[in-house]
Amino acid sequence: MDLNSFLNKYAKHPKYKSPVGSTLNAKSWLTEAPLRMFLNNLDSDVAEDPDSLVVYGGTGQAARDKKSVEKIIEVLLTLEEDESLLVQSGKPVGKVRTHADAPRVLIANSNLVPAWANWDHFEKLKREGLMMYGQMTAGSWIYIGTQGILQGTYETFISCANKHFDGSLKGKLLVSGGLGGMGGAQPLAATMAGATFLGADIDPERIEKRLKTRYIDKMTDSYVEARDWVLKAKKRSMNVSVGLVSDIGDLLEKLLEDDIIPEILTDQTSAHDPVFGYVPNGISLSDAKCLRKKDQPKYKKLSLTSMARHVSLMLEMKSRGSITFDYGNNLREFAKMGGEQDAFDFKGFVPEYIRPLFCEGKGPFRWAALSGDPEDIYETDKALIEAFPENKDMIKWLEQAKEKIQFQGLPCRICWLGMGEREKAGLIFNDLVRSGKVSAPIVVGRDHLDCGSVASPNRETEGMKDGSDAVSDWPLLNLMSNTAGGATWVSFHHGGGVGMGYSQHAGMVVLVDGTDRAERCIRRVLYNDPAMGVFRHNDAGYDIAKKHSKKFNLDI
Ligand code: NAD
Repeated sequence: MDLNSFLNKYAKHPKYKSPVGSTLNAKSWLTEAPLRMFLNNLDSDVAEDPDSLVVYGGTGQAARDKKSVEKIIEVLLTLEEDESLLVQSGKPVGKVRTHADAPRVLIANSNLVPAWANWDHFEKLKREGLMMYGQMTAGSWIYIGTQGILQGTYETFISCANKHFDGSLKGKLLVSGGLGGMGGAQPLAATMAGATFLGADIDPERIEKRLKTRYIDKMTDSYVEARDWVLKAKKRSMNVSVGLVSDIGDLLEKLLEDDIIPEILTDQTSAHDPVFGYVPNGISLSDAKCLRKKDQPKYKKLSLTSMARHVSLMLEMKSRGSITFDYGNNLREFAKMGGEQDAFDFKGFVPEYIRPLFCEGKGPFRWAALSGDPEDIYETDKALIEAFPENKDMIKWLEQAKEKIQFQGLPCRICWLGMGEREKAGLIFNDLVRSGKVSAPIVVGRDHLDCGSVASPNRETEGMKDGSDAVSDWPLLNLMSNTAGGATWVSFHHGGGVGMGYSQHAGMVVLVDGTDRAERCIRRVLYNDPAMGVFRHNDAGYDIAKKHSKKFNLDI
């Protein structure tokens, strides 16, 4: 197929779709894989706003502009096995000479020299067409729809249940804000964990989208109706989820007035971006959209003040008994700027619930079936259940996921696996492809939110034991290890999750195509990548990481 026919079939802006099946469009699976995953990120079943090339996380894009999309496709269709494509903030800028085991695509998104690393400078460059915001998996082409965040959110809620509620959220009310690309996973994760859920989003369309995909059960714009639904459900220990069209601050204020104190309180509004994400209290959505265009400094000021009020109300809930945690959107930082001096009086979800897993090299391992055939994923589910009979939580998740999750775009799966487990899983998948039990190659990757791939002092590396929260040598070492090890594409981003100036992080995806070359790369990459988490946490003095370092012979 020539380039124009390919573009017409798979990339007619804004209608994007990955090719499926086992026939190649590119010269090999090494380039077909990034091509399919790039288009999959932009598929309207996957991306939040394909017209703006936005995949998730407010403004996280897969490519800088339409022209870049077409050029990326053109290059990937013709790239040789001894060449690698360079992508700078979503724009393809050149090819370099490499070799068959090297990554086929090298991606750097949204990186700024530290003293310039803020939203204002970034927005200026973005307006001039020089940069884009890559979030974590948007610009690195391994976003898998809401399943990724669903599993991570489920993992967090279950850890919270284990820590505070004897492992069960039955009869417990969980309240949160933001039901967008990521936050929209909260209602389903909460009900899967047994809780009653009440979430506020200012944008009715976002809640409607969750209703359509059955991530949320009910929707209303009446506070009284929402309140009565959840109180009734909670009383009967029913795991029901309700979305209320409202500003989150207004919801919290009303709950406090009615003396309704949820057992768990968090937030996933797009607070990381005070201008293009968070919507200030007291103005309508359409007025907010106008003000964003007309007067950004005023918008930002209103946003920061609203976030300060929002966090003050969360602190009030906490003082009245709610288990309260920040959910990785940098809300506390901006609330502090807006005047809430005690904003950091509740902790982030990583030190509260996730760090012990990071110490074992555990994190959000994910894979996608390039065939487009759901049966391929079910085959991998079955193989993992057989290979890890001792991992009861993983088995429970895989069984529920098969039943409850509708695939978006290419079928995919996620589960948290650690050091040793990831390499084992990758090799099993390679055998499945080699033997033909799976009909086409698979790609294995992960979120940048992982054990050894990110420096983010208000999120993944908050409150490190040795105070090394802001040290970003680790994600750079992670990028270099995965490049040297032979991942199929690698990425280094700035600002994901928490916004400009607050994080640096690395991503990797490795092709599993049943070949000896894939086996070599899997043995290196899926060993090195989780090992980085063990190195990082061992170095910071965590006992669990020390134990794992010994167990896997990682001490030097
Ligand atoms: P999104 O932009 O798709 O959705 C944010 C939602 O918040 C929107 O629907 C918006 O209408 C709503 N909102 C904004 N202001 C509001 C207000 N005052 N009251 C009520 N609703 C309001 O973003 P997303 O992809 O859902 O991500 C949400 C946040 O979570 C981001 O800051 C992102 O960086 C962060 N994040 C966290 C994790 C994690 O693991 N914890 C992972 C990815 C992203």
